[in-house]
Parts: sequence; structure tokens; C-alpha cells
Amino acid sequence: MHSVGIPTGRASNRGQIGDLSVESRAAMSAIVEISHSLEFSAAHRLHNPNFTDAENLALYGPCNTLHGHNYGVEVTVRGPLSKETGMVMDLNVLMKLMQSEIFEPVDHKNLGTDVPFLEGVISTAENLSVVFWDRLLPHIKGGEGCRLHRVRVTESRSNRVDYYGPAAS
Ligand SMILES: [Zn+2]
Repeated sequence: MHSVGIPTGRASNRGQIGDLSVESRAAMSAIVEISHSLEFSAAHRLHNPNFTDAENLALYGPCNTLHGHNYGVEVTVRGPLSKETGMVMDLNVLMKLMQSEIFEPVDHKNLGTDVPFLEGVISTAENLSVVFWDRLLPHIKGGEGCRLHRVRVTESRSNRVDYYGPAAS
């Protein structure tokens, strides 16, 4: 005959985990996500030079005309919480990386003509998220197992895209 409900053993384990000290919790390598966000202003135009003007207008509509956005970029790094430092990665380092690799090259620029690493790239938010990922990836260095997890780009309050890297499905 089987009893219904939570087995006694599991219930008592749960109680023990709740009683763990701060040191014991840290030793369990909690996986934590840290994020930093910034905003930049830029002009762009969605246009594929392989298409005719009429095709571009049909595909991109008003976005085929030069216009601007106040973009948001949020970058998330995920990894084990270091017992020694209490950090996954220094958030100040992530902030400086995002300033140098993203903000400074693109803020108050025309994304179609002024940014060398966007040359030949149709500046959709989707493409921006991939390009920003590729720029940040070589510089992400935190504790062991720490990795770039997500790059989120927002064009407006209503529209956002998320990129989790080439291996994510
Ligand atoms: Zn736009």
C-alpha cells in the first residue's frame, strides 16, 4: 500500500537544505545570471542592396526610410557563483566592455554608414544582437564556467530580440 503525498525522506531533505549556512550554500556553486544594460541613440535604414527599391519598400515599409531609435542593449552573463569573490563576473568589467565594444562605436551614428563593423549588415535588431554578441564574446572572462548567455536588443518598448549564441536552439 502506497501513501499519498510527499515522501518523508524528501521532505526532511528539503528542510535541511533550507537550514544550510551561507558558506555551505556558496560551496554548492549556485548558477547566477548577471546583466548590464545601456541605451544608445542611432539612425538606420533597413535596405538590402540586392533588392530593387520597390522590393525594399515592400519588405521593410517605413523602415526603408532613414529614421532613428533609442536602442536598449541588455547583456547577460551566466555562471557559477565564485566562493572566493561572491561574483560570477565583475559587473564593472561588463559595463566597461559594453561601453567600449557597443556604446562608443554606435551612439549618435548612422548604423548604415558610420560603423565599420556593421558594413554590409542590414541593421535589424536581430542582426545587431548577433554582431554585439560576436564583439563581446572574446572579452567575457569571469570565473570558471562563466559564459555569455544572452544579448537583448530593444528598438522600442514594444519590440525586442534575444540572441543566445550560435549553439542555442
Ligand atoms: Zn528602425
